[in-house]
Amino acid sequence: MPPEVVSAMNEAAGSFVDLAQLQRRVGKRIAQLTRNEAAYVTSGAAAGIELAAAAAVICKHPQALKCFPDIAAFHNEAIIFRSQRNPYDYSIQAVGLKYVEIDGTPADLRAAISDRSACAFWFPRGQSDADDITLAELIAIAAERDIPVIVDAAAQLPPVENLWRFTEMGAALALFSGGKDLRGPQSTGLMLGRRDLIDSIRPISNPNHGLGRPFKVGKEEMMGALAALERYLTLDHDARARYCEEAVRLFCEALNPLDGVCAEREFPNEAGQPLPWCRVTVDAGVLGRTVGDLVQAFLEHEPAIAVSPLSESQFHLNPMTLNPGEEVIVRDACQQLLA
Ligand SMILES: *Cc1c(COP(=O)(O)O)cnc(C)c1O
Repeated sequence: MPPEVVSAMNEAAGSFVDLAQLQRRVGKRIAQLTRNEAAYVTSGAAAGIELAAAAAVICKHPQALKCFPDIAAFHNEAIIFRSQRNPYDYSIQAVGLKYVEIDGTPADLRAAISDRSACAFWFPRGQSDADDITLAELIAIAAERDIPVIVDAAAQLPPVENLWRFTEMGAALALFSGGKDLRGPQSTGLMLGRRDLIDSIRPISNPNHGLGRPFKVGKEEMMGALAALERYLTLDHDARARYCEEAVRLFCEALNPLDGVCAEREFPNEAGQPLPWCRVTVDAGVLGRTVGDLVQAFLEHEPAIAVSPLSESQFHLNPMTLNPGEEVIVRDACQQLLA
């Protein structure tokens, strides 16, 4: 966490506050800063998915508040695209919703919508097939039947504009991780969007009781998330992108002369963020070590370096989590371990 985030958390730790009131005030400020109607600090994007799914049920059935996850009597289906299934969508079923998995076309979507549909989920991916439905189409079709669209945007920063882009397009809620590129507390997330949905989960969230009570957000986390957001909005994102380009260039320049090694710039990166990363292909026969060996050797390096294995012959170097100056440490480690 950057120093301004740590000091906001330290400062918050010194006071007693009314948590519900602080959540409202911090939410109001975050909403203004992100051009949203309302905002809520969650204990991470995964908790945000769970609360957002619950909100979609509560807004149609206020009596569902104390029933989760036993919601068979209510709108209890969540529409989700087969191609977007991922480990985080577990949070939807934890609320008691049933998945209605569909393929990617508008006709599939129309066929899947029923009078049990509570919400539709969108998980942005780096790449999608050309004939797949777009988020704009999903929002338009769901709106015909008053079905809120919830976007899991946990890793969709940068670009910073995504903080308002999804909800301005008409998504009911967008969920972001506070502990990824925002560099806020790891145990935070932002829920941004419709006020009625956000207000609907307050009665079951800390300091109140119910489904959301285990997802407690402390005053330190709320203030840390706000400080991280304020910082993020004033960052020079172009300079940051140039730094990542420079780091990838440095890695390629150092690695490509080595025998049995090929390094290439890839864009965008894994989560589709508009930043480059470096894909390294190694010939285990020439190097005498596999990617598995290398990943381990990087971790045992001092300081430890986490690289991202892709296959038996490839791994990625991602400059996103480097502080300026650290790219040289990674480059030197690459030269040492891959020579
Ligand atoms: C990281 C991530 C999450 C979970 O975010 P947390 O803030 O760690 O709870 C959810 N969905 C996607 C797509 C993610 O990348």
